Amino acid sequence: MIKAFDKPIYVTRPFLPPLEEFCNGLKEIWDNHWLTNDAPIVQRFCRQLSNYFETDNVCLFNNGTLALQIGLEGMGIAGEVITTPFTFVATTHALFWNKIRPVFVDIEPDYYTLDPEKVEAAITPWTTAILPVHVFGHPCNVHALADIARRYNLRLIYDAAHAFGVRIGNRSIAHFGNMSMFSFHATKLYHSIEGGMLTFQDSGLKSILDYLKNFGFKNEVEVVMPGTNAKMNEMQALMGSMILGYLDELIEKRRKITEIYRERLSSITGIKLVPSLPADVEYNHAYMPIEVNEKEFGISRDKLYEELKKYNIYARRYFYPLICDFSCYRSVSVKDPLTVARKVASRILILPIYCDLSLNDAQQICDIIIMLQAKELGHQSSEFAAKV
Ligand SMILES: *Cc1c(COP(=O)(O)O)cnc(C)c1O
Repeated sequence: MIKAFDKPIYVTRPFLPPLEEFCNGLKEIWDNHWLTNDAPIVQRFCRQLSNYFETDNVCLFNNGTLALQIGLEGMGIAGEVITTPFTFVATTHALFWNKIRPVFVDIEPDYYTLDPEKVEAAITPWTTAILPVHVFGHPCNVHALADIARRYNLRLIYDAAHAFGVRIGNRSIAHFGNMSMFSFHATKLYHSIEGGMLTFQDSGLKSILDYLKNFGFKNEVEVVMPGTNAKMNEMQALMGSMILGYLDELIEKRRKITEIYRERLSSITGIKLVPSLPADVEYNHAYMPIEVNEKEFGISRDKLYEELKKYNIYARRYFYPLICDFSCYRSVSVKDPLTVARKVASRILILPIYCDLSLNDAQQICDIIIMLQAKELGHQSSEFAAKV
């Protein structure tokens, strides 16, 4: 008999540095008495991230959503933007806030990222940019997308909210496209409580982004554009800066958890894992997605999701429903049938993964999934036996 967990196991749990280390850091804030508006720790954090991402073109924000909104605004994106419906809703919201029309196209079936062929088919005279998502930290097909962007003279802006620490061919993922947005939200693998960052190719954007996130102030007496307030504060920067020191350790712990899940679940009928990533990709193990095929597994994705809750396991159905199916976007016309995205959204389930989830806990989650299937199949075969 497999028991439920004593405490709820959520899909994620934020990492916190040792309290003493954080308290020591707070002393610096108290000494400086400077809490926000490009304060010293924010400045230092920005330099650390510049080093980490090997670019001077870094701009920090109070969250990823505003970073993306301001990035689109700063680059003057308008008209139509081709994007994915299989993402967190903020990707599309950022377009809406800039009065840009989202054009949803399908994803590819292995890694769930935007399908370049379908992108090309969706380009119209109004298209100005492509906004793909490195969903679950899986790199998009960056070369094919760059090629399309070049041929059609479109801007390429990545939602890299999930992709902190991911590298392609030994280059940070931040170096692909014209701009990338990273989220440092507490639920992400790397966080600053809340926070966001843009990296970009054109260094001329730096001052525009700085104006836009600070009301458009150029100096005490000049306001050069109608900006908003999207500045990172010292508490966020302190947390982010500290956690950066633990990043490699955090990714390594997740890698081990992923290994257990993959070992235990890969042979189960009706559960599909993401194929191994190309050899030149360094992955961050941000999420642990599985696809549940009801016919083969015996239980629907939604039933498995509910059953797991009875064992105190709170998996999540990211990303279901698709963004185009939310009531606020239902009026957006969608030409692509979104065949793959619809299928994936109906099957996807994200299993718990975070740095202090023990390997035993991961084993127990697998035991429970396997047991639920066995129970269901046993139940089905006894029903079958009763009928004959
Ligand atoms: C979390 C997330 C965002 C928004 O980031 P916040 O920092 O929470 O504002 C945007 N896009 C994706 C894909 C996300 O997962």
